[in-house]
Amino acid sequence: MTLTSSEKLSISQNRTPLIRVENLQKHFPVMQGILLQRQVATLKAVDGLTFNIQRGETLSLVGESGCGKSTTGRMILQLSRPTGGKIYFENTDLTHLTEKELRPFRRKMQMIFQDPYSSLNPRMTVGKIISEPLIIHQFGNQNIIKNRVKEILELVGLNSNLINRYPHEFSGGQQQRIGIARALAMNPDFIVCDEPIAALDVSIQAQVINLMQCLQKNLGLTYLFIAHDLSVVRHISDQVAVMYLGKIVELADRISLYENPLHPYTQALLSAVPIPDPELEAKRQRILLTGEVPSPINPPTGCRFCSRCPEVMEQCRLEEPPLKDIGSHHWVACHLYSSKQVAEQSRV
Ligand code: SF4
Repeated sequence: MTLTSSEKLSISQNRTPLIRVENLQKHFPVMQGILLQRQVATLKAVDGLTFNIQRGETLSLVGESGCGKSTTGRMILQLSRPTGGKIYFENTDLTHLTEKELRPFRRKMQMIFQDPYSSLNPRMTVGKIISEPLIIHQFGNQNIIKNRVKEILELVGLNSNLINRYPHEFSGGQQQRIGIARALAMNPDFIVCDEPIAALDVSIQAQVINLMQCLQKNLGLTYLFIAHDLSVVRHISDQVAVMYLGKIVELADRISLYENPLHPYTQALLSAVPIPDPELEAKRQRILLTGEVPSPINPPTGCRFCSRCPEVMEQCRLEEPPLKDIGSHHWVACHLYSSKQVAEQSRV
């Protein structure tokens, strides 16, 4: 029996994941001609992602804008249908379900958005915003719903007496708490957090991260946390996947990735993260990447990072490196590494 990459990943992690993503793709046709009838290229926004998220854990997807992180999150929630690959919620493949068959899964999977203000309807009170999903999914009568809304407001650290206020009457951090409360209304198992702190003041970011961690612990939530830099995900992640141009280039547990980043792109991203210790910060050497991120319509042949990689070799322009397990649950897509090399290095 031949095992798929995601099955190998599950076995190597020795657990059954809540979310299993296998060779996920989102390709868009690029059309030209007077009536846009001729396909001239394919934009590969997401191109063959494979990863697992264990129940109660957080996997962070990190990478520059446009690398396919948000598209991946939306596909897992089936807000955007993939053009290839499979997405399993426990043992059910969601990609072939009809809208009706998906309904019970929609209750279990929710999303927290980047900009809390624009994701909240300014004409609805907080009570109405949070009760909307409860009404749609027929949670109970008016009294049960009102009590549930108050309970969730308290859970996210807001006063339940504010139920009749409008979003503009709250600060940015409080608005994001309302967004989190709305996501929690149906008691979900899994939440996609799409850059949930990117629009907030730095002083508020830590509070929201702490709240999310606290909710995860108390409610057993599983997160896919999307962020564009590695500094914010350090405190919340169990696993980190680094994306570049629609592909995962490195996937590891948090400690391995931060202490031993292997891919040159991950090393460049990490070199930009400030270190709180002044002595170490003074010695920090930034790896500055030259050139722009190539277009996903016309990515470089071979390794997609070869046009910007400080360690590029001849082989890199000819062969695409596969995502390989180089040991200790650490996966990397780079010709610099083979499992043998890394095993030998760790013995030295
Ligand atoms: Fe750089 Fe080559 Fe590794 Fe790509 S495969 S990251 S170009 S060294």
